[in-house]
Amino acid sequence: MKSILIIGACLWCLHSCNPSAEPAAEKETGLERPSPYPAQADIDTSLTYLMGHFDPSQHEAFVLVDTLHADRPGLFLRRDTYTAFKSMYEAAAKEGIQFTIRSATRNFEYQKGIWERKWSGTTKLEGGTDATTMADYRERALAILRYSSMPGSSRHHWGTDIDLNSFSNAYFETGQGKQEYDWLVEHGPSFGFCQPYTAKGKARPEGYEEEKWHWSYYPVSAILTEAARSKFREDRVEGFSGSETAARIRILERYILGINSECLVKH
Ligand SMILES: [Zn+2]
Repeated sequence: MKSILIIGACLWCLHSCNPSAEPAAEKETGLERPSPYPAQADIDTSLTYLMGHFDPSQHEAFVLVDTLHADRPGLFLRRDTYTAFKSMYEAAAKEGIQFTIRSATRNFEYQKGIWERKWSGTTKLEGGTDATTMADYRERALAILRYSSMPGSSRHHWGTDIDLNSFSNAYFETGQGKQEYDWLVEHGPSFGFCQPYTAKGKARPEGYEEEKWHWSYYPVSAILTEAARSKFREDRVEGFSGSETAARIRILERYILGINSECLVKH
């Protein structure tokens, strides 16, 4: 009995005590880990962070995006995400593929502006629809949610998500746009990028419509998604028109978690 225990302990140690073995967290998540891979302890998973209640220009984890990589000055990303993006940008450029960041970090206040312009009809929805024609607030919120997040629930709060080149799926379906999209699908994951909003269907029945332009640095965003799964509170979604519909719509389950499983921590 004693010898069995000793052999068992040694076998356990071979798997668990070898300092050169992969960290346990890596085995648990099954994620590909681009280097440098941030330690989970370095990632702020507070509800304040998850809901975008901070100024990225003042946050130590964030850096300004160079206008070489963006369509305008003043965009911010997490440092880890931007480092990974620059590696991907360089690799793509060698194959004649050019990426331009059209949108990066948007905090709660920024997202509130987008949402309320749509809510009030100042910005029309796709197809020219005026949201104010929808008297039922839940229906109005759902119409906006086809492509825009409720403030407090956007992945763009996290500094891990970027919109590239064009806000049109059609652009990415022919010619140069298709080359860019095909490159991202093939090579994006090796730099840590996944497409959270893939085509709706059996694998992704709920959430936002497909967005071929939106890519996420999943070594960090998968951890933030798990944090949102356990910490996000729909009753804390407040401070903008229509926020009271968040719980009825089930924002957490359908929108925050309604993403491509390739962007999730694998259990
Ligand atoms: Zn986006």
